[in-house]
Amino acid sequence: MTLDRRSFIKLIGSASAVSLAGCAGAPAVQMANEIMPKTSRRVVVVGGGYGGTIAAKYIRMMDKSIEVVMVERSDHYVSCPFSNLYLGGILKDLSPLTIKYDKLVANHGIKMVQAEVTGVSAEGKFINTSKGSIRYDHLVLSPGIDFRLDEMKGYDAAAMEVMPHAWKAGPQTVLLRKQLEAMKDGGTVVLTIPLAPFRCPPGPYERTSMIAYYLKKHKPKSKIIVLDANPGIVSKAPLFTKGWKKHYEGIIDYRPAKKVTEVDAKSKAVLVEGVEDVRGDVVNVIPPQKAGHIAHVAGVVGEDKKWCPVDPTTFESTLHKGIHVIGDACVAGAMPKSGYAANSEAKVCATNIVNMMNGREIVDMSGINTCYSYLTDKEAIHVTGVYKVDKEKNVIVAVPGSVGIPPDLNELDAIYADSWLRNILIEMST
Ligand SMILES: Cc1cc2nc3c(=O)[nH]c(=O)nc-3n(C[C@H](O)[C@H](O)[C@H](O)COP(=O)(O)OP(=O)(O)OC[C@H]3O[C@@H](n4cnc5c(N)ncnc54)[C@H](O)[C@@H]3O)c2cc1C
Repeated sequence: MTLDRRSFIKLIGSASAVSLAGCAGAPAVQMANEIMPKTSRRVVVVGGGYGGTIAAKYIRMMDKSIEVVMVERSDHYVSCPFSNLYLGGILKDLSPLTIKYDKLVANHGIKMVQAEVTGVSAEGKFINTSKGSIRYDHLVLSPGIDFRLDEMKGYDAAAMEVMPHAWKAGPQTVLLRKQLEAMKDGGTVVLTIPLAPFRCPPGPYERTSMIAYYLKKHKPKSKIIVLDANPGIVSKAPLFTKGWKKHYEGIIDYRPAKKVTEVDAKSKAVLVEGVEDVRGDVVNVIPPQKAGHIAHVAGVVGEDKKWCPVDPTTFESTLHKGIHVIGDACVAGAMPKSGYAANSEAKVCATNIVNMMNGREIVDMSGINTCYSYLTDKEAIHVTGVYKVDKEKNVIVAVPGSVGIPPDLNELDAIYADSWLRNILIEMST
């Protein structure tokens, strides 16, 4: 098959054309107009989410002589953590989950560029954005996730407007809530969960709880069918099982080992392994995931074509020197793909970038994570872990005995969870 130039550009998209850089024989990424000529040592951070904001802030806090440029496509950020509470009707809108960047930028002298990053030249040490090129000494990528849509037949941009994923908080979350509100009492919600690893291991089960909470309160004749590709609940299984039995017997129909591979937006049906057909009045498809698109463009995604292998102490890509990847996009060993983990990785990465740039010794990695999940408006559960690098294997492992869940449900967890979210959003935005 031959492609003319126009079909070729249409096929790969002008933004992703540069993704061929790094591949054998592919043209090198060309620098466009340089929008901020580099006059001092500079770190560019891509992404203003859980990882990016913290990496940018901590580099500036540790060394004011390093210029930090944070590039983010949006002028605000909506937190996925707690967006399930909005679906449960517990939060009336997304404003408590939304941050702006003005205080962060002003307080720390970070240079913010609101633009889409379209290309990365690891060799030339610059990025291309929708506004022009920016040079760097070190680049931090914290772009979050994108979806492996080739593994979910029929799930395209149009289907997402009918069967939302709501796995990136914002308009998709609002759409899903509107659909829940519009559903008749007695209706069926279908929620599909991909094989792990995915963003936020307990997230789909918290979402199940919050949708069940909403149904119990507002549409008591309705139910939710959960089609989980995994052999069982991936995170905090004993506590979710206990909580669902306590609060949602007869509302949640949980079906393990049901991998959805195809959807039909017209009939609002999902197909398990392409055969078993399950229909819903509201269908929430959580597709399989991979590192954010720009990581693929930068050539820092591993052989699995999903996630980015990194040195576990500096988070520097094992594929391209000078590019560090943190947050959901990277392979962080035993650390989960969570906002708290991204925050922790960002601090270690920032510290060691400053050390590298000043010729100082690299410090050991120490990571932390706590993930809270709500069962009702008043009850939450959590899992915690502390992490270090196993120096023999050079991977991040859990510190023995540090990972665990509490023995029982505990109303205090909802109070701790609320405090965690408020603290971490303040840390990201000031
Ligand atoms: C429903 C749900 C509930 C969750 N609950 C929790 C929880 O309770 N606790 C917890 O710790 N974690 C939770 N998480 C997980 C958490 O949201 C992620 O782990 C976290 O956001 C990862 O941070 P990140 O920096 O890797 O990516 P993100 O926070 O997604 O940030 C990525 C940023 O990069 C920007 N970006 C990407 N590509 C480009 C580009 N090319 N150009 C410019 N900008 C770009 C995006 O706009 C975005 O702002 C939850 C997730 C979901 C979906």
